[in-house]
Amino acid sequence: MQTEAQLDEFLSLLSEAREQITYLKELGVDGGVEKTKSGSVTIAARVTTPQPPLEKFSAVPSASKAAARSPVSSALFDDLTPQPIQIQKSSETFEEIWADIGNCTRCPLYERRTNIVHTDGNRKARLMFVGEAPGADEDIQARPFVGRAGQLLTKIIEAIGLKREEVLIGNVNRCRPPGNRPPTPEEAAMCKPFLLREIAAAQPEVIVVLGNTAMRNLLDLKQGITKVRGNFQDYHGVKVMPTFHPAYLLRDPSKKKETWEDLKKVRDYLDATRKP
Ligand code: URA
Repeated sequence: MQTEAQLDEFLSLLSEAREQITYLKELGVDGGVEKTKSGSVTIAARVTTPQPPLEKFSAVPSASKAAARSPVSSALFDDLTPQPIQIQKSSETFEEIWADIGNCTRCPLYERRTNIVHTDGNRKARLMFVGEAPGADEDIQARPFVGRAGQLLTKIIEAIGLKREEVLIGNVNRCRPPGNRPPTPEEAAMCKPFLLREIAAAQPEVIVVLGNTAMRNLLDLKQGITKVRGNFQDYHGVKVMPTFHPAYLLRDPSKKKETWEDLKKVRDYLDATRKP
């Protein structure tokens, strides 16, 4: 008979397995938990649409969780213990990722775009900013954050002692949604794998997610930006700071104070972890 502790352990393993499958799906790898004839449970993965070479994302066991497991439960559940994924440095180049994107028609946003707006900036940056999707100016100039919100973002970057060219700047979606509406979940899901591949290639140490769309697409969170902002989160081993979107700050400048607090935490973290 199973004890309550074993049941808890099983449920926690199941939740880790789900998390891992969600991540693989986001990268364009399809799969699921399958039961074999012998009764053991495996995680199956099938490659579907745009996907990075699998060897670029390796599974690294989480020492703390593994240590917390009792020998009895390890013996019981060894065959289905999922290995939490940490992003490993990918050898893909941005050019290879962009070639894969091509003249994209994967979602309806292509119909009204002028340009695809790719991630821009220093690919060796320690700090990356992720926004929602291009606006009118970005659509015309084919560069992220060049309009009014972008000018404010540049000031925010400079306020923490960096130049815009020193950081990496991208969006969840690369084509402008009509009327600057947020991308639908389907549109975001279609475009996001390319951003995740760029993150794996560039390996920033900190990602600042700007607003709800960027935050919800990188982090599995139900709360909104107002609740989560200012608290470091984790994206597969990368530190993530959620804060307000600069377009929102243009509408409500009183929120700049909180954004500054959030960015100071990012600056302090980068300073404290700078390699000599
Ligand atoms: N807003 C965004 O989220 N991204 C841009 O590139 C411009 C405005």
